[in-house]
Amino acid sequence: MIRQPVIFIGHGNPLNAISDTRYARDWGSLGRQIIRPRAILAISAHWYINGVAVTAMANPRTIHDFGGFPPELYAVEYPAPGSPSLANEIAARLNPIPVRLDEDWGLDHGTWSVLCRLFPEAGIPVIQLSIDRRESGTFHYELGRRLAPLRDEGVLIIGSGNIVHNLGAYTWGYPDSPPRDWTVKFEEHVRQSLITGHHLSLIDWEMAGNEARLAVPTAEHYLPLLYVIGASHPSDQIDFPVSGVEGGSISMLSVRYSPA
Ligand code: ZN
Repeated sequence: MIRQPVIFIGHGNPLNAISDTRYARDWGSLGRQIIRPRAILAISAHWYINGVAVTAMANPRTIHDFGGFPPELYAVEYPAPGSPSLANEIAARLNPIPVRLDEDWGLDHGTWSVLCRLFPEAGIPVIQLSIDRRESGTFHYELGRRLAPLRDEGVLIIGSGNIVHNLGAYTWGYPDSPPRDWTVKFEEHVRQSLITGHHLSLIDWEMAGNEARLAVPTAEHYLPLLYVIGASHPSDQIDFPVSGVEGGSISMLSVRYSPA
């Protein structure tokens, strides 16, 4: 089976699911470049809980986990099937880390707002892995490493978050306002660390100091990146298929590792 890429996607505003934005179009073309995977494993910023869980239901629901958006967005359904067998396989692969087989969650907007553009037909089974909020960057990176062999079994691993995500500094109503200087600096620091393979500076992102504190005021949107770099292979080629900054303080940068 052909090894799948592993991709981090900066998801930003959930309206990208229904509005004809440049990001929606870029995600559509990104999806068309991917050889159809057997299943998708998504690590979303929006399932940030105590513990490691994996969705194990046959038919995950579409979760509209946001407020204040137009009714059309609440009407979006992404009816992809789940994969109880893959959920069990992942739990076994991560042993002895306890992994809860979850029957309650589903697909949150970090997952479906992106997948409805990448794979609009919703025919590929999707499961989500939670992010254990109690754990360190090293833990999340190591989990990514343990999941990497799934790529050779036709599983597309997607991390969905934002490398820079500061809603307090976001210029509401002005998505095209210029990026903050710390947005530019931190995104460039991450980009260079990715290109040079300096994973330690990404695992310990706080070491970047003041710009890291402003770019990553809370960790949940950054951490999916650590799963993606953990699941990368030294021989992969890296590129950045989508880039941009929204509202000065949300990086829309996507990172793709493709088999050479
Ligand atoms: Zn988000």
